[in-house]
Amino acid sequence: MKRSELLQRLEGDPLWDMIVVGGGATGLGTAVEAASRGYRTLLLEQSDFAKGTSSRSTKLIHGGVRYLQQGNLSLVLEALRERGLLIRNAPHLVHNLSLVVPLYDWWEGPFYGVGLKLYDVLAGKLGLGPSRLLSREETLRRIPTVEPDGLRGGVIYHDAQFDDARLAVSLALTLSDLGGTALNYLQVTGIIVEGGLVAGLEAQDRESGREFRIKAKVVVNAAGPFIDGVRRMVDPAARALITPSQGVHLVLDGSFLPGDSAIMVPHTDDGRVLFAIPWHGRTIVGTTDTPVAAASLEPRPQPEEIDFLLTHASRYLTRHPAPADVLSVFAGIRPLVRTGGGDDTASLSRDHALLVDSSGLVTIAGGKWTTYRRMGEDTVSAAAQVAGLDERPSVTGSLHLHGWQEGGDPGDPRQVYGSDAVALERLLAENPAWREPLHPALPYCRGEVVWAVRNEWARTVEDVLARRTRALLLDARASIAAAPAVAGLMAGELGYDRVWQETQVAGYCELARGYLLE
Ligand SMILES: Cc1cc2nc3c(=O)[nH]c(=O)nc-3n(C[C@H](O)[C@H](O)[C@H](O)COP(=O)(O)OP(=O)(O)OC[C@H]3O[C@@H](n4cnc5c(N)ncnc54)[C@H](O)[C@@H]3O)c2cc1C
Repeated sequence: MKRSELLQRLEGDPLWDMIVVGGGATGLGTAVEAASRGYRTLLLEQSDFAKGTSSRSTKLIHGGVRYLQQGNLSLVLEALRERGLLIRNAPHLVHNLSLVVPLYDWWEGPFYGVGLKLYDVLAGKLGLGPSRLLSREETLRRIPTVEPDGLRGGVIYHDAQFDDARLAVSLALTLSDLGGTALNYLQVTGIIVEGGLVAGLEAQDRESGREFRIKAKVVVNAAGPFIDGVRRMVDPAARALITPSQGVHLVLDGSFLPGDSAIMVPHTDDGRVLFAIPWHGRTIVGTTDTPVAAASLEPRPQPEEIDFLLTHASRYLTRHPAPADVLSVFAGIRPLVRTGGGDDTASLSRDHALLVDSSGLVTIAGGKWTTYRRMGEDTVSAAAQVAGLDERPSVTGSLHLHGWQEGGDPGDPRQVYGSDAVALERLLAENPAWREPLHPALPYCRGEVVWAVRNEWARTVEDVLARRTRALLLDARASIAAAPAVAGLMAGELGYDRVWQETQVAGYCELARGYLLE
């Protein structure tokens, strides 16, 4: 359904059962949960779906080996269960990934070997394959570019990998399939309080400037790193729930890590976990954990974070990446929940916290992509009580997400469309020019731009290049070169003029230059 038609649903003073603020993993998961229980659900996102943290993750659906090290077994158990459900419910977007821990010290084999066996046990029937020790030769066969000097062997284990922004798009489409409404570029500007209780909100369409007052039985604040700002719309003195921490990733050519296996370093010399992961034909290296003063939608990497990643990637890879090798660098803000005391963000809670204010505003904070469904389930159960809605059981544990399709090749760029690939193919057949590549270095064709506008609510050049396709992450420079063609195709679909195209291209190029090191 077109955005203009969705906006009409806000006319005529309807009373929604639930409005969710924020279109990242948490908000989308909550809205899908609510709509699948039959509640009248509206989700509002101020920018694009997954514009915030949810398009900037390490792309792992994981139990979290790090939490195992911290002894947080219940968190690992919950995440492993969610991993198993998600691989069943969205097999087109989530797949098994083998990770290898390279071993350089004698004690690491027994230590990580036993730890990862415990990980297998916790995964139980939802396990993706057993972990095992690898000889030095096997390790080098799996990861030909791992640093061989001093290498004793490895431990292989399994987790899952996904495309975060595409999963967000699939959730927005699932919400729509369920009869719910998801609107991007609709910013919540205020909360309506009547008799001390939240009764709805005020929002502004960022395209037209038009303002709306929208009534709801309950409002859920799922604004990720921005939840404190939304809470302060009701109570300006609300204490901060979030401590923002930044994580940075570098994207390198796939030749830095050939093959299908990732490298996982459980403990760098300053105590961080480091991943090098094959993703869409590239290698992602990350991440850092740096406290930042305030959250922003476009966080910028700090020079020390880039140095850290380049230095550590060089320690574990035979080919040492230089700044010129970096195809893209992206940063995201972790919405970590304050646990009181201490400002070491690496040890703050990765778990989620659910809060119901005396005004009835429901806030869901923290968590991770892997557990978005469980967070949504908990949130909707609490919100339904606040709103006095009928109690209804959750069905999302077995709900197939939009595009659900088994099989396929995770290496195929069209895999992310799942069952929609058939309709995309029909669209491409309409115009031979749409089969032409957007850019020789990118695995996308022109028709995918048209598809994204018509079927996935892409509204800006950035929506297409950063989140409907992943061009910005795969090769920021190539994405800049592709921007004028994308703007032209979008303008044709949306009825925009040359000025719109020029403004879009200029804005996109400025943003994308921030993803380049030189
Ligand atoms: C570097 C890094 C790596 C990570 N890696 C992984 C990983 O591999 N696996 C994993 O499971 N998890 C990972 N995570 C965690 C995971 O990405 C986050 O927990 C998750 O994306 C948070 O989603 P969210 O919806 O809460 O926040 P966000 O994605 O930030 O969404 C919040 C949304 O609210 C919107 N919003 C804010 N204010 C308003 C308003 N007034 N009106 C309307 N909308 C508003 C924002 O625009 C934003 O889109 C990682 C996090 C980081 C930072």
